[in-house]
Amino acid sequence: MTFCTAVNCIDGRVQLPVIRYLQERLHVRYVDVVTEAGPVRFLADTVDSEARKSILRRVGMSVTTHGSTVVAVVAHADCAGNPEGKEHQIRQLVASAECIAESFPEAAVLGLWVDAEWTVREVCTRGAAVADARDG
Ligand SMILES: [Zn+2]
Repeated sequence: MTFCTAVNCIDGRVQLPVIRYLQERLHVRYVDVVTEAGPVRFLADTVDSEARKSILRRVGMSVTTHGSTVVAVVAHADCAGNPEGKEHQIRQLVASAECIAESFPEAAVLGLWVDAEWTVREVCTRGAAVADARDG
């Protein structure tokens, strides 16, 4: 697998930790990154906002043109775009993983939480099995 996809915040502090985590976790060479300020805010929302459509359209481009089979979605501590507590953000993260899995049923979806020390933790998985995706 050469490409995977990350739906990440615009925050500069979380870019490299997430890219490095995914490269090691999935043995991918490249990580396509779709950014939004606090993306889980839009993906977890029941409203089909322009922001959500835009995120999903860009994920679709990565899946279609780069053959990405794993999509990670990210929430993090001290997020200016989504200034909610950790517990609330984790709920949004799980709902966001479900939203992406529904939109891209063939993809494996990982929900990642980046803590205040910029350590990446896997919170949930949805959709296809990651192990299968890794073999592909
Ligand atoms: Zn943020």
